[in-house]
Amino acid sequence: MNTKSIFFNRFFLIFLSIFVSISLFLLLSGITKFEKKFENKVLEVVTADIIGIIKNTANSITNNLNGSENYVETIKKSEMTQINLENKLSVLLTENIKYAYLLYKDKNNVFRFLADGAPAEQKAFLNQKFDVESEKWFDIYKTKKPILLKQPLLHQLSITYLEPILKDDKVELILVIDFSIEKTKDVNEVITLVKDIIISINIVVVIFILILLIQTIKYYMVKKTAYVDKLTNVYNRNYLQENEDNINLEDYILVAIDIDYFKKVNDTFGHDAGDLVLKEVAKTMLGSTRSKEDIVIRYGGEEFIILAKKQQSDDIKSLSVIKRIYKNIQRKKFRSAKGETISVTVSIGVNLHPHESRNFKEAFKLADTALYKAKNEGRNQIQIYQN
Ligand code: GH3
Ligand code: MG
Ligand code: MG
Repeated sequence: MNTKSIFFNRFFLIFLSIFVSISLFLLLSGITKFEKKFENKVLEVVTADIIGIIKNTANSITNNLNGSENYVETIKKSEMTQINLENKLSVLLTENIKYAYLLYKDKNNVFRFLADGAPAEQKAFLNQKFDVESEKWFDIYKTKKPILLKQPLLHQLSITYLEPILKDDKVELILVIDFSIEKTKDVNEVITLVKDIIISINIVVVIFILILLIQTIKYYMVKKTAYVDKLTNVYNRNYLQENEDNINLEDYILVAIDIDYFKKVNDTFGHDAGDLVLKEVAKTMLGSTRSKEDIVIRYGGEEFIILAKKQQSDDIKSLSVIKRIYKNIQRKKFRSAKGETISVTVSIGVNLHPHESRNFKEAFKLADTALYKAKNEGRNQIQIYQN
């Protein structure tokens, strides 16, 4: 039983730590998700216009090359076409759009420049090798769809946008635009504000639930302590009074136990030694019963009731628990604080068929009658009630 300590230490602390960890996890993952969603939305709005302009340029380049057999060869051979394209690309450049260039992939899977919108002094030359940073660049030849590569920096988001230019449903050229988006102060402030609000709400909820949890646990603990005898740690009379109508008498045999000549123990060894014997006797009862099935109650000073769960209506088996208790107490040597050895015996009255009585009180009376008989016939024995 030991309800107080086990309940508080193990169950309570494990439950509490699991609860707090889950709350924190949900809180953090919730915030991270929110931040991502918010950033993606801002990105979507900001990039929509830029991507529109890039697509127009791609269309215009396609129109320009329309009719030629091989786009790459046409550009390589005609300086006019190349200049024309570079003019188109240079128009795209702004403070945010840093680079705009046209690439192709040679036979060895190396990307090379065809046209570059950069000013003359920075301009890449025709066929200049271009090293890609990620394998994702090659995906465009399979998907034939634009690719947006993001690279978050401290105060800005650096974006590389790849727009495929197709001929006969094959990717011939790639229009690449590098641009950056400032993470404006306003956006950051909104994110921080919403984040703070969510954190505060979560903390309040967590605290509220914790208080609720502690109150509930306290309530059950108080209830449990009210039902447990302080000295012996078995159930007390309150427990019995509260639960006697709920006990299914068909499931148990009812046993009344009284320590023999206990007054003498007190008189000889002192009240403290008597207390110690009571404690040890109760401990022996708990140790000899099945904690999940049998119920041990301290009914009076040195009087106990045991409700021993029936073993498939087998009286002999059910009685074996009681015989075990009887023997174990008889054998046990208690040692007082002064070192004296004390031994006690018990008288036991058993009602094997409590369900035949109308209620618990009547069933107990019969066990008590058997106990009285055990006392009368010399104590230190088990008597079974017979009608
Ligand atoms: P019998 O064999 O007839 O049962 O004799 P007994 O002396 O055991 O019975 P009696 O009812 O005359 O005495 C019971 C004693 O138990 C009297 C009381 O002082 C003592 N007692 C009751 N509660 C406690 C307790 O909590 N601690 C101690 N140390 N003694 C207690
Ligand atoms: Mg007694
Ligand atoms: Mg008594």
